[in-house]
Amino acid sequence: MKLYNLKNYCEQVNFLQAVKMGLGKNQGLFFPVDLPIIPKKQLKQIIEMDFLSRSVKILSMLIGSEISISDLEKYVRQAFSFPGPNIVPVTKNISCCELFHGPTLAFKDFGARFMAQIISHLNIENNIITILTATSGDTGAAVARAFYEYKNVRVVILYPKGKISTLQEALFCTLGKNITTIAIDGSFDECQALVKQAFNDHQLRHDTGLNSANSINISRLLAQICYFFEAYALISKEQRKKLVIAVPCGNFGNLTAGLLAKSMGLPIQSFIAATNANDTVPRFLKTGKWKPYDCISTISNAMDISRPNNWPRVEELFSRKKWKLTTLGFGSVSDAITEQTLLKLQNIGYTSEPHAAVAYQLLQNQLKEDEFGLFLGTAHPSKFKNVIDNILNINIPLPETLKAPSELPILSHYMKPNFKKLKHFLTSE
Ligand SMILES: *Cc1c(COP(=O)(O)O)cnc(C)c1O
Repeated sequence: MKLYNLKNYCEQVNFLQAVKMGLGKNQGLFFPVDLPIIPKKQLKQIIEMDFLSRSVKILSMLIGSEISISDLEKYVRQAFSFPGPNIVPVTKNISCCELFHGPTLAFKDFGARFMAQIISHLNIENNIITILTATSGDTGAAVARAFYEYKNVRVVILYPKGKISTLQEALFCTLGKNITTIAIDGSFDECQALVKQAFNDHQLRHDTGLNSANSINISRLLAQICYFFEAYALISKEQRKKLVIAVPCGNFGNLTAGLLAKSMGLPIQSFIAATNANDTVPRFLKTGKWKPYDCISTISNAMDISRPNNWPRVEELFSRKKWKLTTLGFGSVSDAITEQTLLKLQNIGYTSEPHAAVAYQLLQNQLKEDEFGLFLGTAHPSKFKNVIDNILNINIPLPETLKAPSELPILSHYMKPNFKKLKHFLTSE
C-alpha cells in the first residue's frame, strides 16, 4: 500500500511507515495512492462472508503484500475479538448500527485494537515506543485498553480536564502500569494541538519513539472500513437499495472510513455528516467558508471538536472520486434538540445516548420515504449515565466493564496546555 502526504504530494510512504509516522511533513495526513474498487461480482461474495474473514479480505486488498495474509488474519482475529456490529430496528425505516459492544463500549475499539496489533508487528526489534494521543472521551479508553500491558509501549493520553464524563475518565485513568494520563487545563483542540507540536519536534520524536494513535493514524481508519461492510451485510436486500448512513462526527474519522468503504464499491447511497453545536463542517458545506469557532462544550462531548483532523481526507476523497461535496448530507443539532431526541427515542423503546441521538435526529429529518436509514451507535448509553439518567429519568445500570473501573482512584497528572511542560514530561519520565 502506498500513501502520499496531503500537504506534500512528493512524500510517499508505505502502510507500515505511515502507521509508524502517524503524520507526514508539515503535519500532513497520509492518503492512499490507490483506491481499490471491488468488482460487482466479487462484492456479492464478499458480502456473504462472515465479519472476520471479510475484514481480512478487505484489509488485504488495501494493505497489499506488506503484511502476509496469515499475519493479517491473526491480527484481525485478535483485534476484533469482541461482539461486532449489531443492527437494532428503531422505527419502520431507521435502525441503529450499534458499534459499542467492545471492551470500552465505543466504536473506537475497532480502530485502536487493530492499530495495537500493527504497532506490535512493527516493533519486532522491541524498541521503546511512546504512543501520544489526545482524546475527547472515548479514544483514550480504547487506546489505553488496546495497549495495556504491552511490552515496550508507553501510552501517554491527554484529555481536556473536566470535559469528559467521569465514567469515560475511569475507563482509562485508573489503569496505571504503562498507561499515563494527563488532564490538560484546556479544550480538546488544545490537547490535539499539543500532540501535533510534539510530532513536529524531530528530536523529541526520535528520543521517545513517538507515535500517535489518533484517528489520523491510517491503521485505525482502515479497520473502521470493515464494519461498514458488515452493517450492509446485516440489513435486508430491500433495505440495501437506498441506504443512507448518518454518522455522528467529531474528528470525522468514522465518516472518512464510511466514505472509503463506498469508494471501494459498497453501495451506500449517501451519508449524513452529523455534528453538535461544533458545526465547522456543516457551516462550511452551507457557505463554502472554513471558519472554525472556539470549541463549545456539549452533552455529546466526544464530538466537541471544531477543527476536525480528518476533514482534508474527506475533501481529497471527493475530489479523487469526482464526487460532488454537495451530495454529502449534513447538519448540526443543539443540546436542547438532542435532549428531546433522546426522550423521543426512549418513548419508542430505544435507550440511546447523545452522540447517536444527534445522528438519528438528522436522519429522521432528512430521510426520504423510499430510503432506509442507519445511524451509527458510537458508544454504549451507560457511558453517558451522568447525562441520560437525568434527561430520561431512568437509572441505567452499569455493565461490569464500567462498574469495576469506576470504583478505582484516578491516577492522572495535571498540566496547563504548554508544550514545553509536555516535552519535559515526556523526556524525563
Ligand atoms: C469519537 C467519537 C465520535 C466521533 O468520531 P470521529 O471519528 O472522531 O468523527 C462520536 N461518538 C463517540 C461516542 C465517539 O467516541
